[in-house]
Amino acid sequence: MIPYGRQHIEDEDIQAVVEVLSSKMLTQGPMVPAFEEEICSRVGAKYGVAVNSATSALHISCKALGLGPGDILWTVPNSFVASANVGLLCGAEVDFVDIDPNTYVMDIYFLEQKLKESELKGKLPKIVMPVHFAGQSVDMKPLRELSIRYDFKVLEDASHAIGGKYLNKNVGSCTYSDITVFSFHPVKIITTGEGGSAVTNDFSLFEKLTLLRSHGVTRSPNLMESSSPKPWQYDQIGLGLNYRMTDIHAALGISQIKRLERIIQRRHEIANCYDKELADLDILLPFQASDSFSSLHLYPIQVSNREEIFHSLQRDGINVNVHYIPIHTQPFWRRKGFRVGDFPNSEHYYDNAISIPIYFGLSDEEQSYVISSIKKAFLAQK
Ligand SMILES: *Cc1c(COP(=O)(O)O)cnc(C)c1O
Repeated sequence: MIPYGRQHIEDEDIQAVVEVLSSKMLTQGPMVPAFEEEICSRVGAKYGVAVNSATSALHISCKALGLGPGDILWTVPNSFVASANVGLLCGAEVDFVDIDPNTYVMDIYFLEQKLKESELKGKLPKIVMPVHFAGQSVDMKPLRELSIRYDFKVLEDASHAIGGKYLNKNVGSCTYSDITVFSFHPVKIITTGEGGSAVTNDFSLFEKLTLLRSHGVTRSPNLMESSSPKPWQYDQIGLGLNYRMTDIHAALGISQIKRLERIIQRRHEIANCYDKELADLDILLPFQASDSFSSLHLYPIQVSNREEIFHSLQRDGINVNVHYIPIHTQPFWRRKGFRVGDFPNSEHYYDNAISIPIYFGLSDEEQSYVISSIKKAFLAQK
């Protein structure tokens, strides 16, 4: 089977992990801070907090930004369920802004309309979470302007987008946001097995994220509240979780992130080939906004006869997938009062979408096979 995405592990990755396994520290050693530094220097952020998943990173980011009962978080329906779940996990309400039908990411015009209506109702959000779907950046500059006008925080879900750019700045530079989150799940751009990271330029958010990651406990002299702390002292000064990343995972991350440019470049080669080879078929190819550079985590196509094409590719051993079932149409979210029809652009996109294989290790031969299988599927429809 050719999957739609998969990790790429090289010998040096294995070596890096093995070295940690025979070292003194499996967790809370030198690897996690080294990985955080590596991420920050790549994306151009001041502070990084690596954790055990992007979901954890989103959760503690919402908490660090003060989200709680009585507050509201907005994200998009075209994302993985975790983007919305973290709002509820903080005790807040969650609502959605529909996507732009061309870029499949949050539509800033819809956002502005919804802000205007919500201001009248006194129901403005505390956090807006744009999702850089497939690696395509949201139009962050006008979003930031709206965040100043309507006084909300911006939390970027960049699970798909490490290595991408917007207006010549790296995604993760937090130029137009408070916090950015990356995922290192195996199917994402680089992997740590499971893992994620939050990055920010705000020192006080960094301190909060660090506390939330590890039980609300600190040994940092300037944070401790005990008057004359003993050498063994640790102070719990807040409420936190254990969302720590291990050094084993971080070592894999350090090894992987060294190849980030090469990985993104290969993804662009694959996408360029699809762009060319599929241009003549009745397929809507993914659109890349000219003011941004996509990391190309996914290559989502839209076809009118999705089900037949999907089955045909699966029969040929190509394990295509669909991203995403609109969150608000999931049974859990329907029980919260959302209805099919609430966010028509996300629903229409979903009805036609298929993610075809794109990943570093996809060979030219495998891609040619995928292309001929797609062409065959279309011919069979005629
Ligand atoms: C993968 C993903 C997540 C969750 O990431 P984990 O690291 O698996 O927790 C959140 N949001 C989006 C958009 C994702 O694709």
